[in-house]
Amino acid sequence: MEAMIIGGGVAGPVTALALRRIGWNVTIHEAYTDPAGDVGSFVSLGANGLRALDAIGAGDAVTARGTAIPLLRLWSGRGRLLGEAPRGRVTLMRGHLVETLRDLAIDAGARLVTGRRLQDVRNGVATFADNTRTAGDSRTTSRETGQPGSGHRHVGQPATADLIVGADGVHSRMRTIVDPDAPAPVYAGLWIISGRSTHPVEPGAFNLMLGSKATFVYTATAAGTLWSAQVPARTRPAASLDHESLLELYHGDRGPAARIIEHTDQWHPFTVLRRLPSAPRSHRDAMVLLGDAAHPIGAGQGASLAIEDAVVLAKCLRDRATVTDALAAFDRLRRPRTDRMLKATGVNSDAKIAGPLAARVRDVLMPVLFRRFAARGSAWMYDYDVEWQTPVTTAPA
Ligand SMILES: Cc1cc2nc3c(=O)[nH]c(=O)nc-3n(C[C@H](O)[C@H](O)[C@H](O)COP(=O)(O)OP(=O)(O)OC[C@H]3O[C@@H](n4cnc5c(N)ncnc54)[C@H](O)[C@@H]3O)c2cc1C
Repeated sequence: MEAMIIGGGVAGPVTALALRRIGWNVTIHEAYTDPAGDVGSFVSLGANGLRALDAIGAGDAVTARGTAIPLLRLWSGRGRLLGEAPRGRVTLMRGHLVETLRDLAIDAGARLVTGRRLQDVRNGVATFADNTRTAGDSRTTSRETGQPGSGHRHVGQPATADLIVGADGVHSRMRTIVDPDAPAPVYAGLWIISGRSTHPVEPGAFNLMLGSKATFVYTATAAGTLWSAQVPARTRPAASLDHESLLELYHGDRGPAARIIEHTDQWHPFTVLRRLPSAPRSHRDAMVLLGDAAHPIGAGQGASLAIEDAVVLAKCLRDRATVTDALAAFDRLRRPRTDRMLKATGVNSDAKIAGPLAARVRDVLMPVLFRRFAARGSAWMYDYDVEWQTPVTTAPA
């Protein structure tokens, strides 16, 4: 069987690896020519995402690229510790995660073609716009980087497969191909900037500071102190804040935010968060959506859920007699969890968008809420197991 995967981010390479485990031939088509490398911001993988990677033999390689961070600490802007909970997470640069996953997929026999952007799928035939810039990585014959040439874009070779997987992220083209009426993402009222700082902080904890104007996340890693500022703004900003305006946001808050920002030696790209309900249809014919293309969960669990999706999809394809049955089983197994996660992370981002008065109330209530949430409320997020060995036996409804 042959799969065509659109998108070589997180979900794409994990799907490729999982499908290679069940004997499928796989080609990943990635729009950008550049290898992932040392770019982008950082991501934290939860125990659930790491467990799913372990199931297909990728956990150790990913963990080795990151820093294990056992604790989550929640701080008020006034420097008060609102709560602390055990949270087995691994934090690493998104580029390193993607690079590791792509390498694992290629080593397992998948083909990766970069510089090839999906345009459309009609009657099972996918068409592409190829970026003909040569990236020059010929490390393995399984990796192609567009066509040698002058940098023109042209229509790439059409392709077909037994299954087309839409792992093309929040601005998914596959989402509208599967369902032309699917909703489009909208600005979520929150933007993020992040970086790496030389200012040292206590290792072992992922710190979330609920400041009076913006949230600040920071953690010590082998690469330095990684931080991100999560800033509420009613309208989508055209560009990031300058250094001084960013510092101004934390003026008056206690804690290390200002010093961490001041000692930043590497700035990561500014990005806005987007809200989107789950795609009403996750599959049609022999096409399926997963990861952010199906449900952009956002910061915190988005990558872990994309990884879970990929492994569960391979499990369904392994155990169900037809692709149609497998995609129905996949939707049945995944939708309750991803819908619940979307709801939970929506609540979470609303807490980060509190106004000054709401922030005071939040600081009073948060220690109680956090204890409850940490003790019982969030176990379902982290305890989830893809149960790779357990067959998908139940016939889909
Ligand atoms: C600032 C920020 C911080 C985050 N932090 C965390 C975190 O700490 N923990 C966590 O779990 N999640 C985090 N997330 C969310 C996480 O990054 C995403 O959920 C995850 O990357 C989704 O993986 P994906 O493979 O579905 O999509 P992506 O990683 O976005 O990959 C999609 C890929 O598809 C390619 N593509 C797009 N269109 C086409 C096309 N037409 N043809 C071919 N290729 C195409 C893109 O170039 C890209 O490589 C964060 C997100 C942001 C914005």
